[in-house]
Amino acid sequence: MPPGTFEVETTAEDQCCELMLQNLRADDLPVVYDATIREWGIRYLDGGSSIQRLEYCPWCGKKLPGDLWDEWRTRVEQLGLDPWDDADRIPEAFRSDRWWKEAGL
Ligand SMILES: [Zn+2]
Repeated sequence: MPPGTFEVETTAEDQCCELMLQNLRADDLPVVYDATIREWGIRYLDGGSSIQRLEYCPWCGKKLPGDLWDEWRTRVEQLGLDPWDDADRIPEAFRSDRWWKEAGL
């Protein structure tokens, strides 16, 4: 599952500042937030889905929380699913930020 596979609308409470929220919502700026694994990044201009991860907010300078990719992959694999081959069978909760919010991560 490449980051950004599941489109999730983000809200102000998930973001460090108003500028981050505005810029994530701007269609013409390659800043992305993958709520599924809580990852912020800048999209490469090669037409692919790769991103360069952001550790700090470019606008307010706040350190962003660590991403949950390893945690997500581990939990999906524990369900007997392959993150890539079984992408269409991944449960609803793991297609958004619900799983890590409910787990208090
Ligand atoms: Zn910020």
